[in-house]
Amino acid sequence: MLLRHTPTEIKERSALTVNPAKTCQPIGAMYAALGVHGCLPHSHGSQGCYAYHRSALTRHFKEPVVAATSAFTEGASVFGGQANLVQAIDNIFTVYNPEVIAVHTTCLSETIGDDVPQIVAKAKADGKVPEGKYVFHANTPSYVGSHVTGFANMTKAMVEYFAEANGLKSKTINLIPGYVEPADMAEIRRLATVMGITTIMFPDTAKVLNGPLTGKYKMFPEGGVTINELQKCGSSAGTVALGRIASMPAARALDAKCKVPCQILDLPIGLTATDAFVDTLRQTAGVSVPDAINLERGQLVDTISDWHQYLYGKRVAIVGDPDQVLALTRFLVGLDMRPVHIITGSPAGKKFEKSLRDAVAGVPDAVNIRVPGDMLLFHQWLKNDPVDLIIGNTYAKYIAKDEDIPLVRYGFPIYDRMGHSYFSTMGYRGALRLMEKILDAILDRKDRDADDITMELVM
Ligand code: SF4
Repeated sequence: MLLRHTPTEIKERSALTVNPAKTCQPIGAMYAALGVHGCLPHSHGSQGCYAYHRSALTRHFKEPVVAATSAFTEGASVFGGQANLVQAIDNIFTVYNPEVIAVHTTCLSETIGDDVPQIVAKAKADGKVPEGKYVFHANTPSYVGSHVTGFANMTKAMVEYFAEANGLKSKTINLIPGYVEPADMAEIRRLATVMGITTIMFPDTAKVLNGPLTGKYKMFPEGGVTINELQKCGSSAGTVALGRIASMPAARALDAKCKVPCQILDLPIGLTATDAFVDTLRQTAGVSVPDAINLERGQLVDTISDWHQYLYGKRVAIVGDPDQVLALTRFLVGLDMRPVHIITGSPAGKKFEKSLRDAVAGVPDAVNIRVPGDMLLFHQWLKNDPVDLIIGNTYAKYIAKDEDIPLVRYGFPIYDRMGHSYFSTMGYRGALRLMEKILDAILDRKDRDADDITMELVM
């Protein structure tokens, strides 16, 4: 009972967060930057921040996450980090030779007010940025927002720094996948490719953070969107952005800068959201949906009808990032499950909260929603009103163990299981995998609790 001190009685707290259901902005910025080919993320702050951000990503992906730091000491903290960053840019290009450096700020460099564009301009003027190489940046102060905000800010920076309109429109569709797994990015792109659509996806961490073990270390793996592609995305026919919180800022910035119209959709989690994604691709690119995709859809519909009886009416508690939480809630409601406790740690705004409340409007039980909320409140809700299933990241396992409720690990971070980087939960195939995980958890519990008479062989 690691969380035995969690009180059942809920007291309203306005100025105290206990066990936040989020982490800091630079982690998301670092993750997004790794989705640019040949990019070295750079943390402009102290070594402690950078070590934490790298280790969080390394533990989740089980891959060596490379990044650099301005390594602030007391002097930089007082007098500013210009000298450190200019020196770092020089060292990084000299020693590691990346195509591009993506600088993100931290609480410390934001608090002292470092002007990163001015520092980068000085580095260029001093000849520290070689010809054909790039440096771009995003402001990611961690006392506001979350890792999802940091991801959104860095993705938007890709547009602001690189996108160009050449006056002609290509048939290419831009895909902004949101803060999802490398496998999800690959699946989103695969669906578009099967439909015969040429895409530019940014960021794209597939083959970067789920690459093969070859016996030869490659500091910059083959995956990632290239700078050339980012430059061209300003001439695409349209943008499909998945997830309002993580992807909308970049999509809107591209529309404003290069007049590329955008469609903002839910993450394609589940049947309805994937239908919307496929249909939007069909309309935007002017193509038809091939039989191969209709087959995948039909298999998902068949599975839902086969197993619906075990999902119907099951009460679920969800904690995670806002785009995932909203799409997941809609998926579960579509399966006739009942999400009754829902928390996201990211401050996602009133519009998001309204969308979430609309999504559960048909659920017959009382539904608790908190945006943003913390894991303590989530646990208290579960103590007062238990559920059949928890869906959340690794940190939810302490609550699941204490309350003896099955847990499906989903979201970021997952430190204690494998599979998330390799098996997508997006699209029709991804929905099958997600249903498999949910059903396994529910049916394993059913088997565990069955006595000798009610134990069933065939489900
Ligand atoms: S919250 Fe701020 S100081 Fe702490 S690790 Fe994140 S960026 Fe660094």
